[in-house]
Amino acid sequence: MKKGIKKITPVLLAGALLGSVVAGCSNAEEGGKLPQIGVAIYKFDDTFMTGVRNSIKSNAEGKASVEIVDSQNSQPTQNDKIDLFITKKTKALLINPVDRTAAGVIIDKAKTAEIPVVFLNREPLPEDMKKWDKVYYVGAKAEESGTMSGELIVDYWKAHPEADKNKDGVLQYVMLKGEPGHQDAELRTQYSIEAIEAAGIKVEKVAEDTAMWDRVKGQEKMAAFLGANGDKIEAVLANNDDMALGAIEALKAAGYFKGDKYMPVVGVDATAPATEALQDGTMLGTVLNDANNQGKASLMLATLLADGETPTNDNVGFEITDNQYVWIKYKKITKDNVDEAK
Ligand code: BGC
Ligand code: CA
Repeated sequence: MKKGIKKITPVLLAGALLGSVVAGCSNAEEGGKLPQIGVAIYKFDDTFMTGVRNSIKSNAEGKASVEIVDSQNSQPTQNDKIDLFITKKTKALLINPVDRTAAGVIIDKAKTAEIPVVFLNREPLPEDMKKWDKVYYVGAKAEESGTMSGELIVDYWKAHPEADKNKDGVLQYVMLKGEPGHQDAELRTQYSIEAIEAAGIKVEKVAEDTAMWDRVKGQEKMAAFLGANGDKIEAVLANNDDMALGAIEALKAAGYFKGDKYMPVVGVDATAPATEALQDGTMLGTVLNDANNQGKASLMLATLLADGETPTNDNVGFEITDNQYVWIKYKKITKDNVDEAK
């Protein structure tokens, strides 16, 4: 029996690849084949999304057959890959859009083909989410991460009077922004500063620029900020850890983190290299963006939908809000609780 199944596996695989009915027919014999889920990531070369991708893969084991493709940061490329998934009669789509405003078009196509869609990390506009009830979003509240990263700076400022380098009672900061238009870039930028002001601290923006979530760009932009206004800067806020780590490289090159030359730098994500930087004292703090649970929740939703089931809090294992959203919590991380950034 076992032997027989092993032997026919390659045939089934070939059948599935061709989108043929062969695989479907064998279902009864095998006692239920795993549902096919088509996953498109905005680009593989993104540290945080690589964590989510790994979580999707490991959580799919034994539950679903996932095909994960790289959209290479191009919406047209992603649209082509989604068309291919639809042609292959994938049972559910799990999409991390390149451009979140493209979700509407994706939903239209999926609805016509009756293939449920779970979006993740890049939040579709509310009017697009309303187009179909078999559309879900898994993400984290961008506002929350912005507030938390601002609070990390507040705690430092209050505990360290010397942080006000020019003694003017005002916090001079620079902001490294993620991709413009991305909810996490816009809202983290806004809410981090609002949290600092809400704590009664006056702020002055020395410079702000996008580094597109990218470490090398973060380093370049920070080097430029230092070149223009080096002595003025009293804090660095970055919308994610990769840009914060790039900024730390530029700061190191300018002699920071030696002797008493220090700069508070905060990021978001709590990636592995960021937790190392927390431990070696170059990064002040970050906010855990929980890649494991975002991958797990989105895979669970997609699997249930692929099986034709209605997701509930119980079967998903995560709370569903407004019938379509799963929000994963953020958490502040510093050197003191770095072990909580699993
Ligand atoms: C993460 C970034 C990542 C971006 C990708 C954000 O939530 O914090 O690190 O580059 O998502 O969309
Ligand atoms: Ca100052």
